Amino acid sequence: MVNELLARLGLAAENSGVFTRRWVENPGGEWLESINPSDGKVLGRVRAGSRRDYEECVAAGQEAFQNLSRRPAPARGELIREFGNALRERKHDLGLLITLETGKILSEGLGEVQEMIDMCDFATGLSRQLYGLTLASERPEHRMMEQWHPLGKVGIITAFNFPAAVWAWNAVVAGVCGNASLWKPSPRTPLTAVAVLKILQPLLLRHEALGAATLFVGGNDPALWMAEDERLALVSATGSCAMGREIAPRVAARLGKVLLELGGNNALVVAPSANVELALRAVLFGAYGTAGQRCTTTRRLFLHQDIAHPFLDKLMKACGSIRIGNPWEEGVLLGPMISAAAVDKALEAVTQARREGGELLCGGKKIDRPGFFMEPTLIVASQAMPIVRQETFAPILYAIPYAKLEDAIEWNNSVEQGLASAIFTNHLLEAEKFLSSTGSDCGIVNVNIGTSGAEIGGAFGGEKATGGGREAGSDAWKAYMRRQTCTVNYGNVLPLAQGVRFDV
Ligand code: NAD
Repeated sequence: MVNELLARLGLAAENSGVFTRRWVENPGGEWLESINPSDGKVLGRVRAGSRRDYEECVAAGQEAFQNLSRRPAPARGELIREFGNALRERKHDLGLLITLETGKILSEGLGEVQEMIDMCDFATGLSRQLYGLTLASERPEHRMMEQWHPLGKVGIITAFNFPAAVWAWNAVVAGVCGNASLWKPSPRTPLTAVAVLKILQPLLLRHEALGAATLFVGGNDPALWMAEDERLALVSATGSCAMGREIAPRVAARLGKVLLELGGNNALVVAPSANVELALRAVLFGAYGTAGQRCTTTRRLFLHQDIAHPFLDKLMKACGSIRIGNPWEEGVLLGPMISAAAVDKALEAVTQARREGGELLCGGKKIDRPGFFMEPTLIVASQAMPIVRQETFAPILYAIPYAKLEDAIEWNNSVEQGLASAIFTNHLLEAEKFLSSTGSDCGIVNVNIGTSGAEIGGAFGGEKATGGGREAGSDAWKAYMRRQTCTVNYGNVLPLAQGVRFDV
């Protein structure tokens, strides 16, 4: 299955991981192995780039930017529209490769490609809507307006768990805005990155835009080169808070722009009036979907004390019925985690939770089969346990009973991250409280919807240690452009602002 799939996507057992205006035949970096987390076997190998290859990527981007930024935005949008169509044609193959490389179930692999397609549609429309305001000038016969211009070259650093969609969120919006982009994917998902660029390559060629999107596969070092590289006007970095703490100060030291999409420790509140069936389904997908490896995964569950016991009973039963297996098989809901090390970390978190007084209701163990599988895990915990305030990127859910909504809100906000949050309630006042300025402090706040699975139409991102960045829809495009305030005097006098006189 693997070899045919790779061939259909233009990949081989060994691949170059550097695309500048062309695939660099023998990049100077190490060989990275792409491992199938379902069986631990090698899917294929990708050769990382050297510093020299990096320089070639940046040079290609610089040249492409000169050309791209002069084109009308709708012409840039046309390239992205065609890319969306190319993705439609390759949806199944690319989705399956994502499933093989990350371990997410096939409907999520396909969903990830659909998200890229949706982003292309969104960005195509956006290419005709890069609007600026006209503002009232205080001076007579003056017009004041805002214009938005491309930034230049944008560096995109991505995480393993959305190996293609997060690049698309950034690259297609940056592209219609007139920027060239340089992508440094996760070293754990290099095949998907190469496959995406293979799909894009003929369109870059046809639109005379080679260099507009370049790829540089590598480990963490190239991410640091990007952070320190003054030629990259913006560095968009998605991954752990620890990574953000390395990248952000380096970009800040050169006074560059940074867009951070970092970790989350997301909570879901179930109030007494909640529709329990709805809440249960949201918790199951939120906590155990994608094997707990989404930035928006539900990690903490605040249950009102009046409904906590029956809810936990139902949750335990449901956990036991989640089908675990090869993620490409029909009916499987829980695939593997990304690596053996990730499973070990998850097991350590379970041990720590138990040491801190947590009660293990189900799961908690590695599954005895090839690959990196872990049981869906449910632990009754308390707000006092330090482990509940850590992001463990695993299918582990901490359930914590609460008495007053104010407490649940305070606990929701008590973690360093501020990504996603949700409340299940049919009580209007509770819902509004959760949404209010004294409610959840997260970037994403949902009512009767789980924490996981955002639509691309909204601006996606979180506050505090999540980094404050916003990507995808709404006006997130503004991060990829520079704002210019322009004032035109169409009169014959030169009045100064604030009535200042300077007559000579
Ligand atoms: P990670 O931080 O290990 O790696 C992400 C990227 O950063 C990779 O390309 C990696 O090479 C690079 N990197 C990592 N550490 C680095 C360092 N010290 N210096 C320079 N570069 C470094 O993250 P991961 O394990 O791939 O993904 C999981 C994490 O990403 C979770 O914390 C998750 O919440 C977060 N995430 C956030 C979002 C979001 O939109 N907020 C989306 C996806 C994932």
